[in-house]
Amino acid sequence: MLRKVLIANRGEIAVRIVRACAEMGIRSVAIYTEPDRYALHVKRADESYSLGEDPLAGYLDPARIVNLALETGCDAIHPGYGFLSENDEFARLCEEKGIVFVGPRSSVIRSMGDKTQARNSMREAGVPVTPGSEGNLENIEEALTVAEEVGYPVMIKATSGGGGRGIRRCDSAAELRQQYPRVISEATKAFGSAHVFLEKCIVNPKHIEVQVLADSQGNVIHLYERDCSIQRRNQKLIEIAPSPQITPEQRAYIGNLAVKAAAAVGYENAGTIEFLLSGNKVYFMEMNTRVQVEHTITEQITGVDIVREQLRIAAGLPLSYRQEDISYRGFAFQFRINAEDPKNDFLPSFGRVTHYYAPGGPGVRVDTAIYTGYEIPPYFDSMCLKLICWALTWEEVIARGQRALDDMRLRGIKTTSTYYQHILAHEDFRAAKFDTSFVASHPELLNYSEKKHPNEIALALAAAIAAHMAA
Ligand code: ADP
Ligand code: ADP
Ligand code: MG
Repeated sequence: MLRKVLIANRGEIAVRIVRACAEMGIRSVAIYTEPDRYALHVKRADESYSLGEDPLAGYLDPARIVNLALETGCDAIHPGYGFLSENDEFARLCEEKGIVFVGPRSSVIRSMGDKTQARNSMREAGVPVTPGSEGNLENIEEALTVAEEVGYPVMIKATSGGGGRGIRRCDSAAELRQQYPRVISEATKAFGSAHVFLEKCIVNPKHIEVQVLADSQGNVIHLYERDCSIQRRNQKLIEIAPSPQITPEQRAYIGNLAVKAAAAVGYENAGTIEFLLSGNKVYFMEMNTRVQVEHTITEQITGVDIVREQLRIAAGLPLSYRQEDISYRGFAFQFRINAEDPKNDFLPSFGRVTHYYAPGGPGVRVDTAIYTGYEIPPYFDSMCLKLICWALTWEEVIARGQRALDDMRLRGIKTTSTYYQHILAHEDFRAAKFDTSFVASHPELLNYSEKKHPNEIALALAAAIAAHMAA
């Protein structure tokens, strides 16, 4: 087994990895940059090291991180999600220096991180992909030709894109001409690569993704699917496992397809294959070669600790489960509580958490790195808490989600939490009928007023006293 792991991340996922390490008797090493000096992952890890003043540079410096891992006697590095998690150079450096990278081989990260290369590998493996360009687009003329072939609407996408950025829908040739240079400039700025490709836009699809686990002995299994159709601007807001809107036949088909896809590329460790589902048609969209933000809901319905499995696989151990050992029970939601103001176009709302009270009770899990008095720094992602609810039936999980969102107190910053209560109250959501257009087609759900809690003043006073005493 691994003895000591460096966690090349911050926030809730770094805390999540510390917890898995603690349960497995593995020592954990945190890294941080100065704005994160008082961050929870720094406090919870067994050891922690500063990587300088710059808020981001330290988290994005492969050579320094690998050297620190060597100096501190770590056998492995867990990259979490975001940051360097899908950076094949980082994984390659680990391989070179004899540090285990908790993830697939660097060559697999590279080929799956490139969306056109991934599409080609999937075509070869017999996995259906959205119709579109075979490689990256050379110029606008080629884009227009491919668009005519597959038919409008189409999507132009950044080949190295992620996090919902670098994707534009075009309904006509005129729009394509207009958007083409925009996606190229967005891709260059955000991902450092000007490569783009084009695929057919699947109108109002469901986003269905499958969690897979693969070990170094060649065993590949899936842990069923998640429905991430509740999105805003191609970014997930609420995730659900299993999907309440597919048939058992579709479930079996998509699960097997994901296993086939992962096996075809010699995948190792935890990964996610994302598909679009339209009617009875399934299309491969991309593979995320890392632990995902929403791995939590799969853990709730299957009972499998995914981060634990990642660490076991990285240590060279076989999977703890065969496919027939995996079953699921009930439904789980994950609410991404973002420090954003939904009523102001989801503008980030950073600052001090003046009061935080965690929701609890049966079937409720919270993954976060915030605490009362914590100052959310403006340099990172705006997701500040993941609220996860599990219940046996669809009706119960909705009621539980409503109740848990209502339980939670998070003051000092604006969040998406009240907005989610209004989504849960919508009849289409309750009837489990929604696709990726749900959020955009229900702008009225943003017309709520924040509920005033009678004890708000008392809470504010208590927080002020606590802050005064801590100072
Ligand atoms: P998931 O795929 O796990 O649902 P997200 O798409 O929300 O997660 O991405 C998780 C984090 O990783 C976010 O902070 C996102 O901005 C970042 N991220 C994902 N892909 C990329 C990428 N290609 N380049 C840079 N950051 C990325
Ligand atoms: P990212 O790497 O940023 O996660 P994805 O390729 O996974 O990008 O796409 C993110 C979201 O964009 C999808 O969940 C879906 O809602 C939308 N999307 C992407 N491609 C298509 C498509 N061809 N047709 C319709 N929607 C799409
Ligand atoms: Mg995606």
